[in-house]
Amino acid sequence: MPSVLRGIPASPGIVVGPVHLLRWEVPEVKHRLIQDDAVDAEIARLHQGLERARERLRHVRARTEAQVGPEEAAIFDVQLSILDDRELARSTEALIRQNLGAEKAFDLVLLEWRQHFARHTSPMLREKVSDLMDVHIRVLSILLELPDHDPVDVPRGANAILVTHDLTPSLTMQLDRECIAAIATEAGTATAHVAILARSLGLPAVVGLRNAMSFLAPGQMAILDGADGTLLMAPSEHEIADARQRVEIEAGRMGEMRELAHSEPVTRDGVRLVIRANVDIPDEADAGATSGADGVGLMRTEFLVVGRATMPDEEEQYKAYKRVIQAFGARPVVIRTFDVGGDKLPVGGFPAEANPFLGWRAIRMCLDESELFKVQLRALLRAGVHGDLRIMLPLIVTVDEVRETRKLIGEAVSELAERRVPFRADVPLGVMIETPAAAVACDTLVRDVDFFSIGSNDLVQYMLAVDRGNANLAPRFTPFHPAVLRLIAQVQATGASHGIDVCVCGEMASQPLAVFALMGLGIRQLSVAPRAVGDVKRIIRGVRMSAATDAAHAAIAASTAREAETLLRRRLRAELDAADATAGMTA
Ligand code: PEP
Ligand code: MG
Repeated sequence: MPSVLRGIPASPGIVVGPVHLLRWEVPEVKHRLIQDDAVDAEIARLHQGLERARERLRHVRARTEAQVGPEEAAIFDVQLSILDDRELARSTEALIRQNLGAEKAFDLVLLEWRQHFARHTSPMLREKVSDLMDVHIRVLSILLELPDHDPVDVPRGANAILVTHDLTPSLTMQLDRECIAAIATEAGTATAHVAILARSLGLPAVVGLRNAMSFLAPGQMAILDGADGTLLMAPSEHEIADARQRVEIEAGRMGEMRELAHSEPVTRDGVRLVIRANVDIPDEADAGATSGADGVGLMRTEFLVVGRATMPDEEEQYKAYKRVIQAFGARPVVIRTFDVGGDKLPVGGFPAEANPFLGWRAIRMCLDESELFKVQLRALLRAGVHGDLRIMLPLIVTVDEVRETRKLIGEAVSELAERRVPFRADVPLGVMIETPAAAVACDTLVRDVDFFSIGSNDLVQYMLAVDRGNANLAPRFTPFHPAVLRLIAQVQATGASHGIDVCVCGEMASQPLAVFALMGLGIRQLSVAPRAVGDVKRIIRGVRMSAATDAAHAAIAASTAREAETLLRRRLRAELDAADATAGMTA
């Protein structure tokens, strides 16, 4: 058995604590027949199970209400109402009367209900599927007396390292964030949404730890190192002391980075860049606003939707957007319209698709569900009066999608004017450049949009045909492939020749080496994780733009990603060493 599990670094930080294993998946249920005289007792067991599930849900609901708020807590009402459904109990009892064990009877009924809702034409009803899934798992786990089955069960004050197969957004909502100090998942990659969410929440995380759960026992001590991407199992006293020392050193380094974060992002030869922050959760707005960033380059609004039973209404969305905009005062705030789908399904999920990343997601879903989309557009236009808001559209493939959105914005404007509420009609509209189609043909977009923002996570995924969430493919997912570098340079050049700002807001923009490459490719705006602002500015301030440009030109001409990366690393090192030497001379 290995003593260290190696995964993919997802969110930095070192945590020493007990492992909390979470198996949040529908357990396998054996076919079990019961005798006629056991039927009544089995029905009673079913009801005890349902009651236990209710108790747990009431507990999570109360905790969520206290920690997060009443709206978020209300999502558990749907699951409570499913547990109270007379029809659910009646159908399960009927199968028990046909001599099926309670857990098998419940399993069959829930499977049928989930299939029924998944096929529903109404998206709101389809959303119920994941509530049904949660009820399915919770009740079966209780009936089968499975250990560690519930996200509610993390012991308080434990500094626990949550280990699970994959942390879906709906599961994240149920977690007691005060008890969890770090996240480790078997699935996922650095650009999967679990990693993005962990970074937003500031939780150290390692993903892609294949088969980790089979090596770990609940409650055993472990050391998670989010920057290294490792999970050390059953550490010795010495290893624990060493990890605690590293936590202190890291805290010191973070202090330095915080100072750097408030410096000017100007290169040694005098070129200033614009560094904005990615803010995914309104609660993070204040931290983002004091991170040293020049505004928000990307707010992923789907985190308002995931883990919910219903879509947030206009008022709730308006308040969330206003909160972020106001936190940043006069600085620009780019808010992206819902990018649900792919691996970012709202709680209810949508019908399973064979290729979700090529499926009904983002702008496609929004344009097809135009009434839901207009709720968001109205909320955004209303929030626009509070600062410098800019709206951004995800997963654009063709200019038609921009034109259709402009038409809906026009309708939203008329509706708001009729209601006589304050709003701003002329909010700038930009697009994510994250599909090869949008990148290669970005000149077809320039007349209809106000800015571009390159989503390197999806752009790399689609260009290299590498699923961004597949841990088995993680080494193949690289932004240094010459094809990606060339395309970014091309988008930048087209934007510049039409007076369109080009930002990069994917994870690439937060990686020091990629920052050096992007600068050299002509990119002057980056939107990065708030905690990465200091590190990104360290790179910018330590290099000359002329050197970055030379290095990027050489990288573009490389034949492989590895060649490009090696070359960039060597040149960046030389630049930073030269900067240190100069600083040493002037000190
Ligand atoms: C991207 O694709 O690079 C991006 C910023 O969007 P997301 O990660 O939310 O898909
Ligand atoms: Mg994207």
